[in-house]
Amino acid sequence: MALPQPRAGLMDIPLYEGGKSSLSGQDRVIKLSSNESALGPSPKAVGAYAQVQDKLARYPDSSAADLKAAISEVHGLEESRIICGAGSDEILGLICRAYAGPGDEVIHTEHGFLMYGLYTRSVGATPVVAPETNITVDVDAILAAVTDTTRIVFIANPNNPTGTYIPGADVISLREGLREDIVLVLDGAYAEFMTGADYEPGLALASDSPNTIMTRTFSKIYGLASLRVGWAYGPKTIIDVLERLRSPFNINASAIAAAAAAMRDTDHTADAAAHNIRWMGVSLQCLRALGLEIIGESANFVVPRFPDTHGYTAADADVYLQQKGIIARRVTDYGLPNHLRITLGTDEEMEVVLSALTKFMGGDDG
Ligand SMILES: *Cc1c(COP(=O)(O)O)cnc(C)c1O
Repeated sequence: MALPQPRAGLMDIPLYEGGKSSLSGQDRVIKLSSNESALGPSPKAVGAYAQVQDKLARYPDSSAADLKAAISEVHGLEESRIICGAGSDEILGLICRAYAGPGDEVIHTEHGFLMYGLYTRSVGATPVVAPETNITVDVDAILAAVTDTTRIVFIANPNNPTGTYIPGADVISLREGLREDIVLVLDGAYAEFMTGADYEPGLALASDSPNTIMTRTFSKIYGLASLRVGWAYGPKTIIDVLERLRSPFNINASAIAAAAAAMRDTDHTADAAAHNIRWMGVSLQCLRALGLEIIGESANFVVPRFPDTHGYTAADADVYLQQKGIIARRVTDYGLPNHLRITLGTDEEMEVVLSALTKFMGGDDG
């Protein structure tokens, strides 16, 4: 008798491995491996979360209406064009299920977020990797990778794990160069950290074009990674499709309450962004003074490139940091074996990690 067989290709999908959160033999660690918020969530979000404990027997509001209202208030958007997901990851997966299948191609870039390729394979479609230039999304290379069967293009702007971004004008050129039937997904997981005047989080195209969708998350600047909440904005036609595919009640009541409060606490978000700017500046200066080259500098992490010299490689740095209880993220699986991605943490954490890296590189940490 033949046993149940999964669809072709499913067992070829590598398991996604998130950043480590513990180290054997160490009870206190500094976890800088998953780009979580240094300041944690807004106290108002924590308060709203706690209030839900009296209502755990009830199903949540399947439309997440209060969360959509909060997003629409803060960003000035149409509620009917917002979809909420259990993490923006869920929405990225829904987009693949809706618009791609066997025989179709989905483009992501060389060092792009790993989930794009994994979700593409989950629906039986074929991931196509467009090369990057200087570890940055290259619009011409994406356009050159398009074929008759391309259905979706994913870019994270800024990208994780590179921290590099392309200006709004380039995103518009990308859209203009793509056929109209191709869905362009602009993943803005780190949009709230961005300061460059030439940056645009994707809202303009998601608002005005019939084929572009922007995704955002509560896992990064809002400090609610454990609750799994994300959202997307796009044309009503695409949102209507995704609404048919998502599970009912996909966001739990605690997540809806906390995320809505977090979105409305714009002061807390501004504090988190300011904290990030300050430590980005200090970290870049410190790491460059150690002779390390940094690729991106726009999200809430730094990505130094370590030397090839034995004893000073990214692998050596990772081991050294772990001995000090610090968890960074190796990015070999993203094609960057010589880099480490280090999330910008709290004041205390940053002092410890920068001083550890200074010692590691053989410098004087004062
Ligand atoms: C963290 C991250 C996400 C996923 O966020 P969730 O909302 O937690 O699923 C999506 N895209 C990029 C680029 C990320 O770094």
